[in-house]
Amino acid sequence: MSAPASAPTATRVSLLAPVTGVLVPIEQVPDPVFAGRMVGDGISIDPLENTLVAPCDGEVVHLHPSLHALTIRSPEGLEVLTHIGLDTVRMRGEGFTVQVKVGDQVKAGDPLIVFDLDMVATQAKSLLTQMVIANTADMLSGLEPETGFVTAGKSVAAVAILAEAVEGAEGAAPRQPGKKVTSDAIIVPNPVGLHARPASVLSNLAAQYESDITLHRGEDQGNAKSVMAIMGMEVRFRDKVRISAYGADADEAIKDLAEQLRIGLGEEGAVPIEEGATEEGTTGPSGTPAPVAAVAPAPRRRSDDPNVLLGVSASPGLGVGTVLQIRHEEIDVEENSNDRHRERRKLNDSIDRSLVQLTALEDRLASQADAEKAAIFAAHREILRDPELLDLANSGIDKGKTAAYAWRSAYTNYADKLAGLKNELLAGRAIDVRDVGSRVLEEITGQRREKALIPPGSILVAEDLTPSDTASLDPSKVAGFCTTAGGASSHVAILARALDIPAVAGIEPRALDIPEGTRVILDGAKGTLRQNVTEEEVQRIRARQERQAQRRAVELEHADEPATTTDGHHVEVVANIGGLEDAQAGVTKGAEGVGLLRSEFVFLDRRSAPTEDEQAQIYTDIAKALKPGQPLVIRTLDVGGDKPLPYLPIAPEENPFLGQRGIRVGLDRPEILRTQVRAILRAADAGAKINVMFPMISTIEDFRLAKAIFEEERNALGVMPVPVGIMCEVPSTAVMAHQFAAEVDFFSVGTNDLTQYTLAMDRGHPKLAPQVDALNPAVLGLIAECVRGAHAAGRWVGVCGGAASDVQAVPLLVGIGVDELSVSVPAIPSVKALIRSLSLERCQELAAQALGAESAEAVRALVPLDDD
Ligand code: PEP
Ligand code: MG
Repeated sequence: MSAPASAPTATRVSLLAPVTGVLVPIEQVPDPVFAGRMVGDGISIDPLENTLVAPCDGEVVHLHPSLHALTIRSPEGLEVLTHIGLDTVRMRGEGFTVQVKVGDQVKAGDPLIVFDLDMVATQAKSLLTQMVIANTADMLSGLEPETGFVTAGKSVAAVAILAEAVEGAEGAAPRQPGKKVTSDAIIVPNPVGLHARPASVLSNLAAQYESDITLHRGEDQGNAKSVMAIMGMEVRFRDKVRISAYGADADEAIKDLAEQLRIGLGEEGAVPIEEGATEEGTTGPSGTPAPVAAVAPAPRRRSDDPNVLLGVSASPGLGVGTVLQIRHEEIDVEENSNDRHRERRKLNDSIDRSLVQLTALEDRLASQADAEKAAIFAAHREILRDPELLDLANSGIDKGKTAAYAWRSAYTNYADKLAGLKNELLAGRAIDVRDVGSRVLEEITGQRREKALIPPGSILVAEDLTPSDTASLDPSKVAGFCTTAGGASSHVAILARALDIPAVAGIEPRALDIPEGTRVILDGAKGTLRQNVTEEEVQRIRARQERQAQRRAVELEHADEPATTTDGHHVEVVANIGGLEDAQAGVTKGAEGVGLLRSEFVFLDRRSAPTEDEQAQIYTDIAKALKPGQPLVIRTLDVGGDKPLPYLPIAPEENPFLGQRGIRVGLDRPEILRTQVRAILRAADAGAKINVMFPMISTIEDFRLAKAIFEEERNALGVMPVPVGIMCEVPSTAVMAHQFAAEVDFFSVGTNDLTQYTLAMDRGHPKLAPQVDALNPAVLGLIAECVRGAHAAGRWVGVCGGAASDVQAVPLLVGIGVDELSVSVPAIPSVKALIRSLSLERCQELAAQALGAESAEAVRALVPLDDD
């Protein structure tokens, strides 16, 4: 640590232990930022109690939005940062109860934050709690740490030796003459940009130099010794920055600071990026997808026919109507304000009012049994509590912006980051952020966006529709809609399916130029929009719609009848579900149980893992929603690969689909698997016949380890045996089904993954999508292999991947001998009706031909689609 040049007399300030526990030298903290004293000099404590107290008298000057860190300014001007645990920022405030607020005066020993020791121990990287002098470079000439056991608020943990100001030197000493040095361009590798922590590291490092130091991004620049200035620049991942210094030690400063910036200022997961590196394939830290704003978009489908515009299917069905273009009005905002307290209040009040509106909207939809839509507005409330988003907005206000301006920059910035993610599910959330963002913006400014009047028979065309727009749509007036943005799993698509409105996403942008009132046909299943249609075409479509509607009504009427072929072979048709609402809907559509509960949906869209009690309640509710004795197959958590969980970090991997995924995560972190297994077993008496299924099993050893954990927990709870099966989604499992069958109770084929692993084609790859077809004879051959091995030992086989809902695949799967089809809820009545129209004998003939065919295309030609 470099002390200022002249420090004649020293003042000693005793800092008390902020928690009870054992002192650990700061350099032993397993975090390079603290260990390297980048935030400042200090100590660490391994806590034995759960209350963080003030280490000295002073004012609370900062509280991190995730509530795990707080700074007190002592009367001498020391900025004492206390930081509970390591990587606790990821807990986003869960488990922390703060007893003070910014601006409060506190006395040494006053309680500041009470935290859940167990939660921090299980969810954070470490419990080690740090006390660090954030303005070390300005204030300290040394720090004398104590050792051993300390009691919070009673024992001295360290003595800070202050560097006194040089006598006669008013304010800053005159800068030594020097030169200006500027670094080469540096690409910021920090996955969430220069947020609070790297910004404070940079400012502390910069403060050690006498030179004036400035951070530049294009025209934008800020004082690199000021955390606020750096944060206010909102430097993002992959931004190109330079750093310059002017003064006597400019050379050394730039050499050091440029290198630190290049390597990510000690932030874990930041990997240096050389200029010119491509964006593709970049992943962020801890398994979170990198916030890549410039990921090359999937090649858009373009049609050669000027009358046909192509997109992707978002909700099936045919719509005939006239175009209504939906455009969103921009809200005008003032940029600058000189009263940040007023602006903060304005923002907070507007957020509060929006929360009230969202709760009312959610309640109304829930009372109309529209749980799916209600859940979307519950998710919007969550967005409004997101500390990172609030942090961004507040830092804009602190930089002199109005609440409206700061809020709009914060949510658009946040939404852009989401939109750039490769994970389609997360990218689809960008529209939710924009939607809830403009709701708050309307509150701040008092300006309301105009809602278009929709005449009956409209086909809406928009760049994007917000969930708020879609939720207020009247299906009796909207014949369909298409958007240039979005994908098949965006919330808008989910809502369209729930409302049963045909929809196409990602349509060619020329759709936005179609004049209002033009008559068009929207084919939600094929993902097309046709213009310049003749009267004859319209009549043909209307007749087809009529036939489809009649057929669906008949199928629904017979939905409760069993799926038995004309020659008496029964196939069980069950539902794929993600939660209770799906289970309830499945029952009304004739589901004979649940063949796949994707339990990860219980874990998604949350800030922390659900507890055992929460999970047990959900599984019990689902079991009760089924008819007594119906099977409920609960798949244990299947995350990793394309399904990251923010609170379950997985180190970056070269090939996530071939890495820590499915059961491998459960075996790596057995406490998660054990908790889930106990919760599942607690639902065993709720009425349904519970089955447990492990995902991504590729070796028999993995199954044995998982089963052993399961049996240990079952015996401990004294629950009767429960069937335990596996997903067959890796070729090794299909090939070795015979050996597995000696130990597993059932198999369920996940054709989505089995196809990607058999063909070595990423299931989400935009270019390979048409070839990732489960009807490829290689995939069908593996399913047949699985059925042979399983049946030889008397085990049943289901299919729960997308192929089970594919009407061309159903006859082949039945012919191969699959016993159960687990399908998406809306598809249940039609799949059952289809099976009732088939004979097992014919299915077996088709299957034999398919297994001998040479391509998926040839297989599909064996089972042509009925054009109705
Ligand atoms: C599958 O792989 O087919 C499957 C059902 O699992 P998921 O789609 O959830 O990976
Ligand atoms: Mg799978």
